Amino acid sequence: MAIVPDSPRSLTEFEQRFGDEDTCAEYLAAARWPDGFVCPCCGDSKAWRLESKPWTYECAGCGRQTSVTAGTILHHSKLPLTTWFWAAYVMATQPNGISALQLQRELRLGSYKTAWLLCAKLRQCMVAPGRAPLSGLVEFDKTEMICRSKNDPVTCDVGRNHHGKMLVVGAVEVQGLRLGRIRLSALPDDSAASLHAFLAASVAPSATAPASGEAGYSGGPGINDDPHVMGATAADKARPRVHGVFSDLKVWALSVYHGMRRKHLQSYLEEFVYRFNRRRDRQAAFPALLGLAAAHRPVTYDIAISLGATA
Ligand SMILES: [Zn+2]
Repeated sequence: MAIVPDSPRSLTEFEQRFGDEDTCAEYLAAARWPDGFVCPCCGDSKAWRLESKPWTYECAGCGRQTSVTAGTILHHSKLPLTTWFWAAYVMATQPNGISALQLQRELRLGSYKTAWLLCAKLRQCMVAPGRAPLSGLVEFDKTEMICRSKNDPVTCDVGRNHHGKMLVVGAVEVQGLRLGRIRLSALPDDSAASLHAFLAASVAPSATAPASGEAGYSGGPGINDDPHVMGATAADKARPRVHGVFSDLKVWALSVYHGMRRKHLQSYLEEFVYRFNRRRDRQAAFPALLGLAAAHRPVTYDIAISLGATA
């Protein structure tokens, strides 16, 4: 992941700095090629910047022309870079991010679909490849979130997955009185297998989890139960930290999105996780997101929809 070292410290400072296309393109090029241009076709680093096309390089090795946005999440976007940058800055650094509707109004975009796709593409970049699993003492539990749309398919799963509700599992690193990083995931069902799959993907094998005494919580991969840590029966008392995260998540989902659609739930959870895990260093969250965007393969509207559908 490429990270550009400096970042604006406020929205005002951001707007003063990134007010034109050239500035944004220069910053994006530095995020994409921190050690200088590298041809995505042949790997050659010798290239010329074309005067006839903005921010486009011609490889000395194979002759291929590559724009600074080609092959990235910004591929073939008709939106100005200033729009991408503004959206990325607000989504990465502002405590509540921004909804597509708010973004459309703020930037006076032509349609809601354009704003939604911009947000959806940036959201797709919010999972860093190879991100480290949670470690140390990890608290986890499940919760339910209410679906926003009445048109969403209603599931009839057994257990606690009620009609019109979505199951979410979360885990948080407990570092004394502080919280470390979190992970959140939509659960397809209430089975122990689904829970264990989340833990295997999100929690390091050496992690320790407070025991809950509830079926399906013990013996998951990556979990060494410690029965001495907590013994309360009420979930929010036994696992107050992860339920505090759930509480913040639900307030955010309601206040910004007026509830969440089932098909896009996972991508919204990843957006929440991205900001939460960078809450102590919001300044770095913006260049990190741009670095991820520059390294992310292109995503079309159809792909963005289907990614949401399968998440
Ligand atoms: Zn080349």
